Amino acid sequence: MNKTALRTRPKTGPVQVADFAPESMIELRGVVKRFSNAAGEFTVLKGVDLTINRGEFVSIVGKSGSGKSTLLNMITGIDHPSDGLVVVNGTDIYTGVSESQRSNWRGKNLGIVFQFFQLLPMLTLLENVMLPMDYVDMYDFDERPTRAMDLLKLVGLEKFANKLPVLVSTGQQQLAAIARAMACDPPLLVADEPTGNLDSRSADTIIQLFELFVSQGKTIVMVTHDPSLTSRTNRNIIISDGELINETISRALPQLRHRHMLEFTRIAETRPLQPNEIIIQQGQPVDYFYIVSKGEVEMLVKDQVVSRLRTNEFFGEIELLQGGNSLTDVRAGNSPAELLTISRADFLRVIQESPITAEALLKIAQRKMEALKEDKLAAKP
Ligand code: ADP
Ligand code: MG
Repeated sequence: MNKTALRTRPKTGPVQVADFAPESMIELRGVVKRFSNAAGEFTVLKGVDLTINRGEFVSIVGKSGSGKSTLLNMITGIDHPSDGLVVVNGTDIYTGVSESQRSNWRGKNLGIVFQFFQLLPMLTLLENVMLPMDYVDMYDFDERPTRAMDLLKLVGLEKFANKLPVLVSTGQQQLAAIARAMACDPPLLVADEPTGNLDSRSADTIIQLFELFVSQGKTIVMVTHDPSLTSRTNRNIIISDGELINETISRALPQLRHRHMLEFTRIAETRPLQPNEIIIQQGQPVDYFYIVSKGEVEMLVKDQVVSRLRTNEFFGEIELLQGGNSLTDVRAGNSPAELLTISRADFLRVIQESPITAEALLKIAQRKMEALKEDKLAAKP
């Protein structure tokens, strides 16, 4: 990709990027971040590609030190990548942009929420919420206090508007920080462990508020440690040691350890399928573990469809785990589809290291076998 060809360059300020789909809010291409310390240079983000569309509510999880905050800092422009392209809300935020231009752009385009709130201690909650409007000079001067008050009402803090942060609870401080993040009505909210320092009830209030924003069309990207919150987002991204895990793999095999998911991410190959393309014939050896990554796949016995596998479902595990040739014909559905394939040897090596996954797969395999037996009986003339 020729990066320079993508851009129309105004004389000053951020560059508009026309190349990306209008529905995309965040585009990362080959983002690398290196830090140096006494021991030398180390790479924290190892070439991250990521697209997040407008209106998505995305959670990001990963072990401590895996690069979650660093990744968010690339999106918010708080830090800058060592290499790669970052486009947020249609703007290339690093190429030819000064620190102060980026800071102004940030104020108008995104709200940020941190784990430790970061409210200014000597300002009241109302003043804290007004601050971003003053900073980027948005809304009429007279309108700002009313707007700040409306935001505090929205988060249920109107009674505390004139209090200093120390005089309210930590949950309330975070709600005020969220009101502040929304002060300039940004299309994107980025939150780094926003509930990490809160009890579960306050955390729930905050997620409900995020759900409300998403229903109003906002995009939210939230790093979290709490698995109970990831189920409430539309999409969950896992980062492991500075690399993103293929989302089809993490959805198909959620019991795998992150490092095993990462290994599968690295070795899996993509195989596009024409409509109705034959993948395996009954009685033939099975050499791969297959996950459906797009479209639908049909399993057939005697030309009868006995089951359909949708995106993130898999096949081949029965034959690989229990031995024997394919129990069914397998072919693509009526529209184009795509598979991720992992070779027999790679699959078995990783599964051997992950007893929980092996057990889960065997259970799924048993269920499929039983269903298949019934279907075979039913299919007999
Ligand atoms: P996470 O948020 O997933 O816990 P971080 O993104 O904060 O992880 O950090 C990832 C790695 O990068 C860690 O090893 C951390 O020590 C290192 N790191 C983060 N920021 C800096 C920095 N400014 N300078 C040097 N190393 C850093
Ligand atoms: Mg962090």
